[in-house]
Amino acid sequence: ASSVPYCGRFAPSPTGLLHFGSLVAALGSYLDARAAGGAWLVRIEDLDQNREVPGAAAGILRTLERYGMQWDGRVVYQRQRLSLYQDALADLGRRGLTYPCGCSRKEIAASARSGPEGPVYPGTCRAGLPPGRNARTLRLRTRAEEVGIEDRIQGRVALAVHVELGDFVLHRADGIPAYQLAVVVDDAAQEVNQIVRGADLLLSSLRQRLLQQALNLPCPTYAHLPVALDSQGHKLSKSDAARPLDASDPLPSLACAWGFLGQVALPSELDRLEEFWTFAIAHWSAARVPKGPTQTSPIFHKER
Ligand code: GLU
Repeated sequence: ASSVPYCGRFAPSPTGLLHFGSLVAALGSYLDARAAGGAWLVRIEDLDQNREVPGAAAGILRTLERYGMQWDGRVVYQRQRLSLYQDALADLGRRGLTYPCGCSRKEIAASARSGPEGPVYPGTCRAGLPPGRNARTLRLRTRAEEVGIEDRIQGRVALAVHVELGDFVLHRADGIPAYQLAVVVDDAAQEVNQIVRGADLLLSSLRQRLLQQALNLPCPTYAHLPVALDSQGHKLSKSDAARPLDASDPLPSLACAWGFLGQVALPSELDRLEEFWTFAIAHWSAARVPKGPTQTSPIFHKER
């Protein structure tokens, strides 16, 4: 056992109400923290106001409460922390680790090679903005080196980020800090040392590892949970195929999420929420979690 106290977190974006996929991330991170006697923080990732659904942040918190997931400390809202991200950007800029880029998404898509997560930025502006171009974004100058993490569920994951993902955006064309930057700054500022979240973010973790190194921040331990799919094999997402969770009847969804995470059978006579939590915290085993991805029951999907 390590001497550093466990600090985990759940970091939803308020783009809709919680659905089965986000419940899996909330439950996995919560149980892993509580089973280790650790802290569990909630951070609302509300930087992108265009994607925000009014009332979603409050709705997410209400659902967590109804489900019996109690967070530690105050909920943190990224929109109130812009100066932290600006400071990190300024620090990287002073050390020559960022550069302004004038390329639009369209231009990049037209000229770029395709990597595991879409077009790879070809480095057009790396040596300076071409004449007559204005800066749209700021990008990280990625180090030419393989980046790896030891994931507790997925095992070793490593990639030449500079080749496969490319120099990625830290400050967006619409003037807001990019997710990659904000998440790294906040996890470090909140002293989060255990990150449990969906495996859709696995390659983002490699980008985030590079940024942690660039900012001299510690590396948290990662556990990436299987991704919940609908019957067509698409990831459940708030904006798309997922049905919001029933906040008035938490047990059936919790039991499904528990099973989805490969855990031991629940006692059959379990009918109170407190009984679920007592059993689940006592029996949680990260070693049982499958790598996934896995299809979920149609009861969690919307009609298409
Ligand atoms: N806010 C991100 C999302 O809702 C998750 C961020 C994270 O867990 O690092 O997908």
